[in-house]
Amino acid sequence: MTKLIHFPHAQALPAIGQGTWYMGDKPMQRLDEIHALQAGIDLGLKLIDTAEMYADGGAERIVGEAIAGRRDEVYLVSKVYPWNAGGHRAIAACEASLQRLKTDYLDLYLLHWRGDIPLEETLAVMQKLQQQGKIRRWGVSNLDFEDMQELIALDGGEGCATNQVLYHLASRGIEHDLLPWCQQQNMPVMAYCPLAQAGRLRSGLMNHPALNELAQQKGITVAQLLLAWVISHDGVMAIPKAGSVAHVKENAAALGVVLTDEDKTVMEKAFPAPGRKTPLDMV
Ligand code: NDP
Repeated sequence: MTKLIHFPHAQALPAIGQGTWYMGDKPMQRLDEIHALQAGIDLGLKLIDTAEMYADGGAERIVGEAIAGRRDEVYLVSKVYPWNAGGHRAIAACEASLQRLKTDYLDLYLLHWRGDIPLEETLAVMQKLQQQGKIRRWGVSNLDFEDMQELIALDGGEGCATNQVLYHLASRGIEHDLLPWCQQQNMPVMAYCPLAQAGRLRSGLMNHPALNELAQQKGITVAQLLLAWVISHDGVMAIPKAGSVAHVKENAAALGVVLTDEDKTVMEKAFPAPGRKTPLDMV
């Protein structure tokens, strides 16, 4: 059965979505990227995550082409640079994203990471964008436990719909305090780099003997194992980026992978959690 994630005031979404970092960088790959995103939507990977940063707006343009004529089928997420996340700059940044995406609203708009603009100011402009109908909901990314306490204490802070953070089997620091806290708040966590960038963030992950053996036993790939592990956590969704239809199909099929407690034990023994507070991992 497909695992669903419930964003406040939105329909439930399959727990695997689609990332877009590096899309739009290479003109030669444009069509493959568009086809991959479209195949993902067809397979139910409705949430598409992008950002003004990716390929300097190029990824949003790719997404705009991929969703043309089917805006209502997707849950569209984009992110604002920290230095744009206040006042007129935020309104202009959001409008530019909408233009590149060829839509008139975002389902979710995230502060990409915390910068110098006070959180109050970002919150105020997010609320303004909501009132203007340009965004349905707002959230944050790369905010650690302490930052979240600060945010949630602000007037309107409870309106934060998600925290998008790095999370994969070989980077489990959020399990110490951030993840349990989000779960307690019923705030969905969006796990980025769920494949550790195909192992580039952690050498030895994709070809780890224990993971390969388990994947083989289950008749799946290591990538599917990693995605199934991420979404096995309450309230956590994964947003892998795939630039080919083959990878998208593989990732979508991970929605149907069931991990037993024994499977998880094998995986977690190979890549244990730090067991203490560590600074939030980021790329
Ligand atoms: P991922 O962990 O999603 O890894 C992407 C890499 O994995 C690509 O090289 C891709 O190759 C490969 N891949 C995809 N599917 C498979 C598969 N089934 N088998 C083998 N390899 C596969 O890393 P990302 O950094 O892209 O993170 C995911 C998304 O999260 C981003 O695209 C972005 O939307 C978001 N993000 C947000 C950040 C933030 O600060 N908020 C930071 C980083 C990411 P190929 O392209 O050839 O398919």
